[in-house]
Amino acid sequence: MKIIDGKQVSTSLKEALREQVATFPEKFGRVPHLVVVRVGEDPASVVYVRNKAKACEACGMRNTTIVLPEETSEQALLSQIQELNADETVDGLLVQLPLPKHISEAKVIEAIDHSKDVDGFHPRNVAGLWQKTPHMNPCTPAGIMKLLEAEGVDPKGKRAVVIGRSNIVGLPVAKMLLDANATVTLCHTRTVNLPEITRQAEILVVAAGRAKMVTGDMVSEGVVVIDVGMDRDPETGKLCGDVDFDSVAPKASAITPVPGGVGPMTIACLMENTVACFLNKQGNK
Ligand code: NAD
Repeated sequence: MKIIDGKQVSTSLKEALREQVATFPEKFGRVPHLVVVRVGEDPASVVYVRNKAKACEACGMRNTTIVLPEETSEQALLSQIQELNADETVDGLLVQLPLPKHISEAKVIEAIDHSKDVDGFHPRNVAGLWQKTPHMNPCTPAGIMKLLEAEGVDPKGKRAVVIGRSNIVGLPVAKMLLDANATVTLCHTRTVNLPEITRQAEILVVAAGRAKMVTGDMVSEGVVVIDVGMDRDPETGKLCGDVDFDSVAPKASAITPVPGGVGPMTIACLMENTVACFLNKQGNK
């Protein structure tokens, strides 16, 4: 069994981006600029946003964090987005989710200029993924595909099972696995006899948000397991995944840990998307 080191793969990706970005001042006169907007003080969001700024620094990119108070109105946030859309010096723009309940996430996602949408959440980017037209890939699914590639796992012809059908992880990663020629089964809360299906998986991606829900009896020998979950162990309160690592790992040929698996890849892919938005803009000038 191999533990897939997402930290190492993400560090290599960021180093490659840093080298690429270092050539930009001479070629284009500046480096890419990512703006992250955070509304309120959700503790997880504070950490995520800080990590995004740190990753920008590691890649030699400019970054700005805008913090707005919890009570910011939807209209005020939309106006702020319009301003950033119009700002030529901004290449990538994201608003950290979740947002306070009085603000529509759908409206905010749609308001971001799709050419600056580094999260890949804008309807035009989502449509591009499904229609195979140019688009920005969502970061977590892209990170999962890169981890598989780094491990030398080619999904072609393999039976892939994805648990979870959210717009952010499960659904797009299922589509990407399909495009990589896997045979994909997408499972969700209404799936009947989940263990019977997961036992058929050669690649198992779990994005359900349920601590340790996948146990050793639910997988077959040799499976490659990608655990997207970021949960709290109800017993210890520690960060854990959707996969019960201790019972699943001995049967897996490769498995991602939590933390240190998919999480760092998500941010590395965000950096990659920021560079892509910057380069697209240079190409369109
Ligand atoms: P979500 O709540 O939007 O979706 C969860 C999905 O799992 C739903 O489609 C639901 O049908 C399915 N599901 C839930 N319980 C199930 C069960 N018992 N059996 C079968 N299906 C079940 O969650 P999400 O936004 O997709 O996130 C999933 C997990 O991934 C969370 O733990 C989240 O914190 C984590 N996450 C991690 C990263 C990262 O960068 N590592 C990024 C995004 C999300």
